[in-house]
Amino acid sequence: MNYEAFFKSALDGLRSEGRYRVFADLERQRGCFPRAKRYVGDDAHDVTVWCSNDYLGMGQHPTVLAAMHEALDACGAGAGGTRNISGTNHYHILLEQELADLHRKEAALIFTSGYVSNWATLSTLAAKMPNCVVLSDSGNHASMIEGIRHSGAERVIFRHNDPEDLDRKLAQIPADRAKLVAFESVYSMDGDIAPIAELCDVADKHSAMTYLDEVHAVGLYGPRGGGIAEREGLMDRLTVIEGTLGKAFGVFGGYIAGSAAMCDFVRSFASGFIFTTALPPAVAAGARASIRHLKTSQLERARHQERVAKVRRRLDAIGIPTMANPSHIIPVMVKDPVKCKQISDWLLDRHNIYIQPINYPTVPRGTERLRITPSPLHSNEDIDALVGALHELWSQCALARSSAAA
Ligand SMILES: *Cc1c(COP(=O)(O)O)cnc(C)c1O
Repeated sequence: MNYEAFFKSALDGLRSEGRYRVFADLERQRGCFPRAKRYVGDDAHDVTVWCSNDYLGMGQHPTVLAAMHEALDACGAGAGGTRNISGTNHYHILLEQELADLHRKEAALIFTSGYVSNWATLSTLAAKMPNCVVLSDSGNHASMIEGIRHSGAERVIFRHNDPEDLDRKLAQIPADRAKLVAFESVYSMDGDIAPIAELCDVADKHSAMTYLDEVHAVGLYGPRGGGIAEREGLMDRLTVIEGTLGKAFGVFGGYIAGSAAMCDFVRSFASGFIFTTALPPAVAAGARASIRHLKTSQLERARHQERVAKVRRRLDAIGIPTMANPSHIIPVMVKDPVKCKQISDWLLDRHNIYIQPINYPTVPRGTERLRITPSPLHSNEDIDALVGALHELWSQCALARSSAAA
């Protein structure tokens, strides 16, 4: 086999389908969020980032950075081992206590990333519980899907955010089988929110475990940043709450929270937890500082919601079609992969505005979009520039406006 030719032809296939991914070469500038330096060949210039998952700018918060500097100076760079073999650092223990408290659970367990926490936990639970069947929302993230697949357990997909469909599907499964219902709170591409109470009601009715991915909600919702389940007073109804330390908390890593026995079970059986080097202590310290800050400060959450509402209002006023949803994610619908990429390129090259195009397979064909994530640190001038640029490019690409346009 000609290996190189194989790799190249597979990549050509992606290119011809418009699915080849091009990364923007950025250097984030501490203290200047949402500004970053963009490298183009030997040149570098400032761009405004409108698609970051550092939703609150906590990745540059002075409290977070101070905690990381302190831990780095105290402990050095790496953890020095897996959690089991010399890698457990006191900062890991403190972080897990902080997370258990955040979700009002007995325990928490940290992982190398949110992806790994979903993958390792779902694959371990579903594989080890005898004769387990997993009920998976059709909109679930790749990390959950891969974890469930890896478990080898039977999987039943229920219609997105549909408790009645879940009820029907659970009713067909023998009562004595182990059942795990896996879903998310805020879905990252459409920005819609699960009916958590109704899904938990159905799960309870059939004695099923519940597993909630709150990756796009922790830090952002609830009086202490515990997520949508905290906001709605539902944290105690979930068997497992999973989250990331890399999005609104602005650092890196993932976790689960739940009962002491469940966390101890995953700690003891999950290959993706056991056989990998622990998070650097400074990362754990930074994440903990971010969580602690957002447990008491409402400033960032309030300003975030205000900025989101303002961007939505301004786009509505000029008829730029957005997908309606109750969250902080603003999907601007282009519905054409070539135009979506073109608008994104023009925003970057002509207006120094960075919004990555979202095309198939991340979203279904025909729903290509620009996913805008306003932060508390985007200024009125940033919003003016964004709205002005989209107004101009929308006309240039001859895209339809929504009828709500003034
Ligand atoms: C980003 C994401 C993850 C993975 O979290 P990381 O910490 O980035 O690995 C898990 N679930 C959902 C829904 C996500 O969007």
